[in-house]
Amino acid sequence: MKRLAGLLLFLAACHAESPPPAATGAESYPKRCSSCALEAGPLHACGITRWCPNCRRDAASGHRCERTTYCKTCRAETGKGHVCGKTTLCLSPLCMLNGWPVDRGPNHVCGKSVFCPDCKVDAGLDHSCRAKTWFCPRCEVEASEAHRCDLSRFCSACSSERAVRGSPHLCGRTRFCPECGDDRPLVHAHAKGS
Ligand SMILES: [Zn+2]
Ligand SMILES: [Zn+2]
Ligand SMILES: [Zn+2]
Ligand SMILES: [Zn+2]
Ligand SMILES: [Zn+2]
Ligand SMILES: [Zn+2]
Ligand SMILES: [Zn+2]
Ligand SMILES: [Zn+2]
Repeated sequence: MKRLAGLLLFLAACHAESPPPAATGAESYPKRCSSCALEAGPLHACGITRWCPNCRRDAASGHRCERTTYCKTCRAETGKGHVCGKTTLCLSPLCMLNGWPVDRGPNHVCGKSVFCPDCKVDAGLDHSCRAKTWFCPRCEVEASEAHRCDLSRFCSACSSERAVRGSPHLCGRTRFCPECGDDRPLVHAHAKGS
């Protein structure tokens, strides 16, 4: 992510120094859209995009010059980390990455979760792709499969849930059991028919 941000900043700097390409020849935009009578570029969608004279391209709501990208598949302006059909632009200053707007997933909480493009889920600060954790919007923390709100929290040291109260958690020896609602040895039996 850090390297990507650096690259994008570099590209943006290059772009800012060179003048926008002259609109001459066969592809001269903007044109006037015959349906909505607005200035339109090649990606124009009536009622969704407007022409940005600064970026010299079609832009949708939430557009930040040089900093957001229009996705013609989603028909929306998008930020960094965009995954088609899964994320939308978040413009909260809490979520900016070096001043660049990022995309958010469906369970996003500003400043507390980011979308993991690998796992395709909202991810908290303790996110681990290997443990397949996801962001619990209610607890506003990273959670694993065994997560029970108010009862367990994800332990990044051993990549499993631990009990909030109750028995002490011993990494690698106990973990939270959603059936017992407490920390239990990794292997333990349950009474049947409970
Ligand atoms: Zn139009
Ligand atoms: Zn612009
Ligand atoms: Zn898209
Ligand atoms: Zn946000
Ligand atoms: Zn991940
Ligand atoms: Zn929860
Ligand atoms: Zn642990
Ligand atoms: Zn149990």
